[in-house]
Amino acid sequence: MTVTQGRAAESGRAVPLPPGRLHIGGQWLPAADGRTAPILDPATGVELTRVAVAGPVDVDRAVTAARKAFDDGPWARMTPRERGRKLWRVADLLRARATEFARLESLDVGKPLAFTTTVDIPTVIDTFEYYAGLMAGLEGATRATAAPSFAYTRREPIGVVAAITPFNFPAILSATKLAPALAAGNTVVHKPAPETPLSALLFAELLAEAGLPDGVYNLITGDGPAGAALVAHPGVDKIAFTGSSAVGARVAAQAAATLKQVTVELGGKGANIIFADADLSAAIETAVGAFVFNTGQFCMSGSRVLVQRPVYQEVVEALGAAAAHVPVGDPFAEGVVVGPMAGPLHLAKVVSFLDEAASSGAQVIGGQRPDGPGFFIRPAVLPHVAQDSPLVQEEVFGPVVTVQPFDSEEEAIRLANGTRYGLSAGLQTRDVSRAHRVAAALNAGIVWVNGWALLDPAMPFGGTGASGYGRENGPEGLNAYLRTKSVVVNLA
Ligand code: NAD
Repeated sequence: MTVTQGRAAESGRAVPLPPGRLHIGGQWLPAADGRTAPILDPATGVELTRVAVAGPVDVDRAVTAARKAFDDGPWARMTPRERGRKLWRVADLLRARATEFARLESLDVGKPLAFTTTVDIPTVIDTFEYYAGLMAGLEGATRATAAPSFAYTRREPIGVVAAITPFNFPAILSATKLAPALAAGNTVVHKPAPETPLSALLFAELLAEAGLPDGVYNLITGDGPAGAALVAHPGVDKIAFTGSSAVGARVAAQAAATLKQVTVELGGKGANIIFADADLSAAIETAVGAFVFNTGQFCMSGSRVLVQRPVYQEVVEALGAAAAHVPVGDPFAEGVVVGPMAGPLHLAKVVSFLDEAASSGAQVIGGQRPDGPGFFIRPAVLPHVAQDSPLVQEEVFGPVVTVQPFDSEEEAIRLANGTRYGLSAGLQTRDVSRAHRVAAALNAGIVWVNGWALLDPAMPFGGTGASGYGRENGPEGLNAYLRTKSVVVNLA
């Protein structure tokens, strides 16, 4: 099926759409009760296609298929190198279809094509290659024990992994779970977000083409109840969840009832600290990119800028000017930096934050809604917002930034650490000692110095506090899908 109608065709973005069915045990199936839901084009609001909505019967079928593939199939028993070769093949297939993948992700999420082709899909390929390479080094260790013995550890897969992913980076966050989970020898049931499941459907096709045995990767599209049924299912051994803090807390509580292993990667409210000694033009460019990237729908968004007082006014004015001029529009149009929000509810949430701020007397620079269809909003800058304001304390998840002044390093650290989140943070400074001192003091799973969102499959990220626990990427990301068995052979 190809999108050839309405604005999609007008703007030349005809993209082949994968079938909107579930992928269970190697087969494409409709939902058992026949339910489907519409997928909207965020740039037009028009229905693109419909996809199956999994119910409890489908969840059970998918877990059963994954269980069987883990317990009886070859995947967990292959050598790590054999599995690694399959993952290299996945990366090769992704590279061959990178353009199609990028266009599909832009269409589904509203991300500018300029980013899906240079950031999202290359990151997905990198992630598969990184874990394929890491496989060769998947080893246990020998240990010296007091008693005469030959003692060693084995690194074994955990079993059936439920991977539950959010709407904002569908392909990247699928890869950060699937690549290490599969590399480690687990089987997977994946539930992407209901708004943006299209790249996962393409993944299912590619993973099968790469030669993964049936049932190793199972895809169920659907909403919250499908996720909850997956979390509760006794056949699941581990839950890898990325999403909001509220849902993450529910998932962790529910998983505790059946003692499943859990990692929860949740919301963020990262502070970007600009010291007066920074290279100011670079720092401002970084600050703009940090809050408008992905239309602000980024757990690591630089949505709070803290600026040392001598340069505060200059930074506010520069951010305000950028908010007025950054190109907002059709994700397929050349030069567009900010696409639409991914869905009407996400847009409504951002609008309500801004309306509330304006009605309580806050200065809002930008934030207008352009005329016409689609879920667009211009970036907004809010200077002089109080630390206890909801705009500073809560995830807005849109292209909105607050700008607060500070005087001392201590005050910057106190403000930066003054929310319930702890996912990412950044600081812009030319002072090397300060860079290391402040990086150590910030409550965040990842800190960037003189930049923002400097991410790589080799570097772990994850949260503290309301941002959750667990780490993805790097060897830590692989460890999250392995358990250690000790074997001790008596030599006496
Ligand atoms: P969400 O919590 O609404 O949904 C995430 C996923 O959970 C979806 O697939 C959803 O269908 C599913 N779900 C909903 N209710 C469930 C339940 N009761 N049990 C099991 N699964 C359930 O999040 P979202 O709106 O899709 O994504 C945005 C959020 O994700 C933001 O808070 C953002 O910060 C966060 N996020 C975090 C990271 C990270 O790495 N820390 C990365 C990206 C996004």
